[in-house]
Order: sequence, then structure tokens, then C-alpha cells
Amino acid sequence: MSSETVNTFEAQQQGRPTGPLVHGYEVIIGFETHAQLSTASKIFSRASTAFGAEPNTQACAVDLALPGTLPVMNKGAVQRAIEFGLAIGSHIAPKSIFARKNYFYPDLPKGYQISQFEIPVVQGGAVEFFMPEVKGVAEKKTVRLVRAHLEEDAGKSLHEDFIGQTGIDLNRAGTPLLEIVTEPDMRSSVEAVAYAKELHKIVTWIGICDGNMQEGSFRCDANVSVRKPGQALGTRREIKNLNSFKFMQQAIDYEVRWQIEQIEDGKAIEQATVLFNPDTGETRAMRTKEDAADYRYFPDPDLPPLYISEQWIEEVRGLMAELPRVMAERFVRTYGLPEYDATQLTQSKAIANYFEATAKACGQAKLASNWIMGEVSKYLNAIEELSFEEFQETVTPANLAALIGRIHDGTISNAAAKKIFGEDLVHYPGTKYDGAQDYIDACIEAKGLKQMNDTGALEAIVDEVIAANAKNVAEFKAGNEKALNGLVGQIMKASKGKANPQQVNDVLRSKLA
Ligand code: ADP
Ligand code: MG
Repeated sequence: MSSETVNTFEAQQQGRPTGPLVHGYEVIIGFETHAQLSTASKIFSRASTAFGAEPNTQACAVDLALPGTLPVMNKGAVQRAIEFGLAIGSHIAPKSIFARKNYFYPDLPKGYQISQFEIPVVQGGAVEFFMPEVKGVAEKKTVRLVRAHLEEDAGKSLHEDFIGQTGIDLNRAGTPLLEIVTEPDMRSSVEAVAYAKELHKIVTWIGICDGNMQEGSFRCDANVSVRKPGQALGTRREIKNLNSFKFMQQAIDYEVRWQIEQIEDGKAIEQATVLFNPDTGETRAMRTKEDAADYRYFPDPDLPPLYISEQWIEEVRGLMAELPRVMAERFVRTYGLPEYDATQLTQSKAIANYFEATAKACGQAKLASNWIMGEVSKYLNAIEELSFEEFQETVTPANLAALIGRIHDGTISNAAAKKIFGEDLVHYPGTKYDGAQDYIDACIEAKGLKQMNDTGALEAIVDEVIAANAKNVAEFKAGNEKALNGLVGQIMKASKGKANPQQVNDVLRSKLA
């Protein structure tokens, strides 16, 4: 893993292309994400927000828009919006306004959706994240947010399994959403996915959203356009409701290719809302896009302005746990980790805490980080049904630290430690042993994995290998450094992996000098 990073924010600010060109076109992407807020009740009513109930059992008179009902703001939803704003460095508006967004659709009983338009509660801010590594380099990106506003969700039309007709389920009507809108700062589908993953991490970390994408708790709309570098922004099409990272990337890639083909064919792109079909891998226009004017927005007379005091903001700030970004910075400062490691380890709170406990227990933060990002994550990926919580019940931070300690003190090689990890430690039988250290030492003994610390024996092997590999030796002496690797490999093999690679190197070099 490399710690080298590239920050492209400046180039982006200056309007230079910062992403890969596709057939000579620059890709421009902006995101609108609906995060369902984790309140127990709805944004303007007392009905439950729990997922999966029988249709229309969780819709009260307010959600049904019965005459005479009035919305009452849910304080918990506002608090979550404040938490989000604080997490990404936004301005929290001291006074924001709810507006009616008017449109006609069967799943919207009021004939309008309560949202925020001109003055949203969260303004500005930015999300910082790393791109996946390419050739050992992870580029750092910054995507600016325009705003995040509170709004209510609509109901659902049920087209399947309803006596051959379409039914309406209003359980979801009035569920609190935070709509998070970015500037058109992203330049590739890969970057868009990396942004979405980072945003997902932030909202789940601070606990304002459960992040369940299958259940629709985190839905992204991707606005996509293309242009020749240096030109003004092109017309965008908006891909609605992407609820998996895989589909997100596929949908954007398809859309980009489609738009370029259109333009190359001399056709203009028409602003439209499109849907992605995972079965065909294609996007298809659903409707030509409405403009804000079509929605006849106006302030909702049923709701007073939302006032947020400085004092409330400070209270919320005081209640918030350390944020991933802040924790990552602390890992760099306190443990001397590369920024990339720190960012990877703070992908989830559980992993971050696990790392910190392991690093403290073994005193070897970089080794702990390598192990968690390497062997541990490989193991977790390989066993699908194993959750991190279950894993760490067996391989506790103390247990992993005990293994790492034996690498650090030179008892076993990294390769031997991997063997013990995969074959033994993940099945640690617990109480049968006097702690994990005892168990690990017993395994090292039983498997004969102790590194060779006897210089005499090592020297004998080195002499043998030198004698048997005259060609490599000659090449090395002629200045070919790589020829040494071959010899080291032979020695490691002859020692059955028990020699200490560093020591092998030293002995070999001194004998060849
Ligand atoms: P609306 O609210 O009507 O959808 P906005 O202007 O608020 O329109 O933009 C919505 C999203 O589209 C934002 O995330 C913005 O960054 C993005 N966007 C705007 N223009 C473009 C463009 N030319 N190409 C790609 N994305 C765009
Ligand atoms: Mg939009």
C-alpha cells in the first residue's frame, strides 16, 4: 500500500479536466442523494417509519392528507440534519423555510411534497475521499456540496401482486429525508461511486441513516453530462434512484457512452429524467425533465420558519462522536500512519476501533494497520456470512496483537504469521489455553515455524546455495541486483521458510562481497 496521494481539487477549481477523457469527452457528474433519516416517527406526523409493515398500517391522518390535519415538525429530523452539516463543514442556516413542491401523482395524497427550496437548512460543505488506488497511488478528491435539505418522502405504487391492479401504500409517505446535493464536481463513474461510498460512510457513522440501500434508505440520483474540455457545461440527464454501487457505475458508464454517441451523430441531448434497467444495463428516458418553475414552489403556510439557535448547534456538536475524517487525522498524528491507511481504517467505526485497540495492545501501529487492511480484510471478504462483529469475538484485538508481537520480536516471519492466522487464530478455542499468546506460541511450536536464529545453520545453507547457483552469483557480481532475489528465494526455500529474510540478505551480501 502506498501513502502517495494526489489532490486534484485545485485543478478542478480552475476548470481543468481532472478525470479520464472518454473518446475525447470530459464527463461531468453531480449527485442528489436521498438519505432516509433514522427517526422512529415521520417528519410531520407521529406514524412509525419502520420498514416492511403491511401496506397502509403506518399512515395516519396527516400522512393521508385528511382535511383539517396540520404538519408538526419532528425535532429529531432537524437534529440529524444539523449533525450532517457539522460532519461535512457546512453552514447551518439559523432560519430555513419549508416549501410546497406541487405535482400530481397517485402516491402523493396532498398534491404537494413538503420540502425546502430557497433556504435549505444545510448550506455548502464538502466531502473528501480517496479514489481506489491505481498503480499504488490513491488520488484524493473533494466534492463540494451545494446544500442538504429536509423533506418528506412520498408513498409507493404497488404494481405487483395486487389483484391485477395498482395499489397505493402510504406507509412511506412522510418519512423524513435529507436530500444532499453536490456541485457538478465529479469526473468519472469511479469517482461518483467513491463519493457515494464516502457519503454513505458519513451518514451511517454519525447514525443519522441506517444506510440500507435495498430498503431504499440511501438512494442516489446521478446527473450526467459530457463536454469537450474547455467547453461550457453540456445538457444533463438525471439517472434516478440508483440503490447499489454496482448499478451506479454501470448506469453512469452506459449513460456517458450513449450521450457521446448522440453528440457524435449530430443529435442534441435533451434534458431528461432516466431510469436504469439492471437487466439490460441500459438507461431509458422516463420523462422530459421538469424545471423548478413547473413545481410552483411556495412557502408552506402550515409550517413556521425553522429556527436553529447557535446554542442548539453547539449542543449537537457536543453530543457527536469523533468523525471519520477527524479520527483518520488523529491516526496519522498519533500512530504515524500514512493518510491512505488512516482513511481505509476509518471506513467503519467498528474497524477503526478494532485497529486502535490492536495498535495499542501491540505497540506496532503500522504492522497492525497492514494486517487489518491485508489479511483480516481478505479473510472477511472470503467468508461471506461472517460479520466483523462475529470475527472480532474470536480474533480480539488482544489476540491479533499477540500474533503481531511475535512477528515484531522476530520469532516468526510474516508468512508464518499468515499461516497461523488463517489456520489457527481464526478458530481460537478460547478458554482451553491460558490466553491467546500461549495458544499462538503453542501453534508456532507445533508447526515448527520458529524463525532460524542459529547463524551457523543459516550460513551453511547460504554456502550451499551459493555453490549450487554459480550463474546467479556471477550475475550479481556483474552488477545485477535482481540476481540476489533468486538466491534469497532459494535460501528461504531451503530453510523451509524459517530463515529471517533480512538476516538472509545480510549474510548473503557479506559472503558475496
Ligand atoms: P434540479 O434541482 O432541477 O435537479 P440543480 O441545478 O439543483 O437542478 O442540479 C441538480 C444536480 O445536477 C446537482 O447535483 C448539480 O451539481 C448537477 N448538475 C447541474 N448541471 C449539471 C451538468 N451540466 N452536468 C452534470 N451535472 C449537473
Ligand atoms: Mg433534481
